[in-house]
Amino acid sequence: MLQSKQEIFMPQRLIKEILPGIILKRPEITELQNETYQKNNIQVYLLRLDEIHPVISGNKLFKLYYFLEEAKNNPDKKIITFGGAYSNHLAATAFACNEMNIPCSGIVRGERPEILSPTLLFCLQQGMQIEYIGRENYRRINENEFLNGLKKKHPDSIIIPEGGFSIRGKEGASIICQLFNDKKFAHVCLPVGTATTFAGIIESNGDRSGIIGFGVLKNFTDIESRLRQLKVSPNQKYEFNNDYHFGGYAKKTNDLISFMNGFYNQHKIPLDFVYTAKMMFGVNDLVQKKYFAQGAKILCIHTGGLQGNNSLPGGTLVY
Ligand SMILES: *Cc1c(COP(=O)(O)O)cnc(C)c1O
Repeated sequence: MLQSKQEIFMPQRLIKEILPGIILKRPEITELQNETYQKNNIQVYLLRLDEIHPVISGNKLFKLYYFLEEAKNNPDKKIITFGGAYSNHLAATAFACNEMNIPCSGIVRGERPEILSPTLLFCLQQGMQIEYIGRENYRRINENEFLNGLKKKHPDSIIIPEGGFSIRGKEGASIICQLFNDKKFAHVCLPVGTATTFAGIIESNGDRSGIIGFGVLKNFTDIESRLRQLKVSPNQKYEFNNDYHFGGYAKKTNDLISFMNGFYNQHKIPLDFVYTAKMMFGVNDLVQKKYFAQGAKILCIHTGGLQGNNSLPGGTLVY
């Protein structure tokens, strides 16, 4: 009975079922203090999913949850998934499969690079088998023809779509809401890539808060169709903002980098340049533009992804 409090909060109870060796830290909800928020009478909080585990952090573990559960119940199956050379999803999958002793393959976009990215090196080190496919072929990974071929070739496999984009991924992501649904926020903000996490949060938060997703891709015009594919009810309300993509997926500007360094100096909290920095920049800009009502309490979700910063040249960030 010597369980610490940390071990028994809700997502930890679930995760323990499939990853008994993983102890999650209950993420704090930290209030961010700065003059702009004070002047505008806005309270901004950050849910530190980046801190739940030193390796498998952020939203990825949750999106993987139901796939890993299937794998646990079907010990003969291996896991196959997809990603780019810097993918947080690949890294999380490789780590979880290694922990569970499940064979896994990562199908990686593009040719094998001369110098492997830190992410790919990590995946290999976790025992993931890596197969490179050209960009042309990679575009087809969500098509039935491609998937049927893959299933035929690997009949005993669980295929996880890129980024976990699926109903099961959404249902896993909705577990995140259990970490804050007992508190009342006017808005909940998060970065949006495949929209799987967004869908899970929209669905399980209901109408308690206004959910605002910040798209990190340029010309992100298919959000409605994505949410429809993930079977989010069309009656669910949400806001989607695509004004802070900074040139597109994994693109960055000097402004974004100096924002990240400033944010770290002020709050001692690291952000990643692909997702969370873009969301936080957007939230701060909207506060400045008086987008939020006076007195509003806003929760931002730090979805993790810090391993992606390893691709930046040394010295870019102060952390
Ligand atoms: C993958 C990722 C996202 C995007 O999540 P989706 O469910 O694909 O929208 C957001 N933040 C971080 C840090 C991520 O790694």
